[in-house]
Amino acid sequence: MELENRLIIGGDKLTLFIDSETIKSSVNALANQIRNDLQGEVPMFVCVLKGSFVFAADLIRAYKDNCEITFIRLTSYEGTQSSGKIKTMMELTDNIAGRSVVIVEDIIDSGLTMKQLLSQMNHFQPKQVKVASLFIKPSNLKCQVQIDYHCFEIPDRFIVGYGLDYNGLYRNLPNIYTRE
Ligand code: 5GP
Repeated sequence: MELENRLIIGGDKLTLFIDSETIKSSVNALANQIRNDLQGEVPMFVCVLKGSFVFAADLIRAYKDNCEITFIRLTSYEGTQSSGKIKTMMELTDNIAGRSVVIVEDIIDSGLTMKQLLSQMNHFQPKQVKVASLFIKPSNLKCQVQIDYHCFEIPDRFIVGYGLDYNGLYRNLPNIYTRE
């Protein structure tokens, strides 16, 4: 059932937080910024599944130059809480040695996932690694972590939509919602 800025699905109340047009213009600007910084390179975007697949699809289509994309799958969340244990569910299948890599992440929350991923990536000897996250939650950071690009800084709220889920649901919503 849709009530203007609210969606009520099952028992969940979702409140509109960032609409798809705002996301689109921020993602376009980010793609241009990365392209300016990586002139002369053919970047390899590494999409961190599952949460960043929508963001990555929009980012590479907004990237007006040659690029490649590959995928890795990590898990840490159960419901709305990080389990603290980061597992690699699907390894990188493309060779990134000597490449300019851009890690595409949905949210940097505690930063622990990104920290582990960066050390994993560096084993493959890329030329350089940049980190692009759609969201960061600065108040939740538990470690110092490299973040080169981000679209939105947000408070400590649990959000869904635009690829982000709650127990597997809501990835298909085009806007971002907070979940109560
Ligand atoms: P970190 O290791 O930085 O604490 O957690 C990062 C991961 O936690 C993100 O890639 C994402 O999968 C998940 N995450 C963190 N905050 C949220 C949130 O507000 N909504 C959703 N759906 N996932 C989140």
